Amino acid sequence: MKQHFIIDGKKTQGRNGTFDVISPRDQSILHSMPNASEADVLDAVEAAQRAFPLWRNMGGVERQKLFLAWADLIDANRDMIAAEVSVEMGVLKDDVVGTAGYIADMIRYYSGFIVTNYGDVLSFEDDHMNVVVNEPLGVIAAMPPWNSPIESTIQKCAPALAAGNTVVLRVPEEAPSGGLILAQLAVEAGFPAGVLNALAGMGPESGEALVGHQKVRLVSFTGSAPTGRIIARTCAEQMKPVVMELGGKSPVIIFDDARIADAIESSVSSAFCFQGQICCATTRVLVHESILDEVVKGIAERVERYDVDNEAFPIGPLFNDKVFHTVEKFVAQGKKDGTLVAGGGVIEREGGGRYHQPTVFLFKDDSSVVCKEEIFGPVLAIIPFSSDEEAITIANNVDYGLAATVYSENRQRIFKTIRQLESGTVWANCNFKFNMHMPWGGPKSTGIGREFGKYAMKPYLQEKNIWIGN
Ligand code: NAD
Repeated sequence: MKQHFIIDGKKTQGRNGTFDVISPRDQSILHSMPNASEADVLDAVEAAQRAFPLWRNMGGVERQKLFLAWADLIDANRDMIAAEVSVEMGVLKDDVVGTAGYIADMIRYYSGFIVTNYGDVLSFEDDHMNVVVNEPLGVIAAMPPWNSPIESTIQKCAPALAAGNTVVLRVPEEAPSGGLILAQLAVEAGFPAGVLNALAGMGPESGEALVGHQKVRLVSFTGSAPTGRIIARTCAEQMKPVVMELGGKSPVIIFDDARIADAIESSVSSAFCFQGQICCATTRVLVHESILDEVVKGIAERVERYDVDNEAFPIGPLFNDKVFHTVEKFVAQGKKDGTLVAGGGVIEREGGGRYHQPTVFLFKDDSSVVCKEEIFGPVLAIIPFSSDEEAITIANNVDYGLAATVYSENRQRIFKTIRQLESGTVWANCNFKFNMHMPWGGPKSTGIGREFGKYAMKPYLQEKNIWIGN
């Protein structure tokens, strides 16, 4: 598919030259992408602003039909979408085919919210009526990340559009094609010009221009906490609300009464899925001291099974140089602060690509920076604890709170622990369960607001309190 922006329903090339999209598999140049300038951002926001009255006033059934046609087109183009997205992400095409089907369903799901956002009648008496209606905000800036370029695009765009807003989508520059294709398919499905605009560009240029635009009424961003803070500061100046889905440092707590084999399997598989480049990857395994040796041995044995050419336990490429150098830095630090349990080295391969062994460290306590900061790569820290209270303290002793997992056969202990964990999602005796109906997000530097389900609708609507007298 030719690379282009979608602005005001038309394909455009932008006015700022191009940038190269690099393959994670061999670091070759996959293609050149137009690079959005501030003027392109301005055009996109103005197109969205012009389209807003038409879109917010369009009948619910008409809008619902457009959503369903969009979902059908995505389904019909799953293969093409997957072919474009998988090479940019460095993953298997089949995995993205499944994701494309999932996001088509997510659009169908949010089509159900289009006609149900009516308000409440608060009082209706002889001399007055008082009602509250929910109204869309206007132009929304949607900014998904490279590690979930199509899911995150729909997580933001579907509820924002269902609420009656128009959208400027700034696709991640490292994996831009998926979002641009989805916007193109929305146009083909019949969405009016300007309702969903999409462009690609560099964060500090096109991203800042979009975030700081006065006519953008809300910014929905998924990315790292440091970038989230920069964006939130700009928004604070303009009293602009934000939805922020940021990082994680997710713990698994393995109590002494846990099913140890299950706990080991789920800790390892969620730590090293997509080389740990997942926001909710398990990056800290907290283990009761009485079972520490058994768990460390079990984790080491399980991790040894990973290999680049092993289809069942694969090691894929790290996404880019930035991720690779971050991983190298934290692995070097882990070797100083803790004991290496597995991995620890770069994998040299012919044909390019940045590969790193899944790496596990055992620490005496959680004071190392490896136990505190998000690495976003294949590095797992094991930390022992001696009491339930200490486990909870360590679990909460990070700046993030996206997801936490608890393994125990004692129901009371599980309930007590869940209540005390500072975490948006808690899994108990299971792990990595997701459901588009359920909220996603978390406290502290993990962000602001929730995505998925009815919870995602809230930020995209504002209440208007109306009194009507005689
Ligand atoms: P990042 O913060 O480095 O970059 C994200 C995006 O921000 C990029 O597209 C970049 O161009 C843009 N950007 C950079 N500077 C900007 C600025 N000044 N103004 C506006 N935009 C700017 O994050 P990343 O490394 O690309 O993504 C990985 C991060 O995303 C991890 O921290 C991960 O945990 C997080 N993430 C969170 C979730 C979640 O649901 N909580 C999901 C996926 C990823």
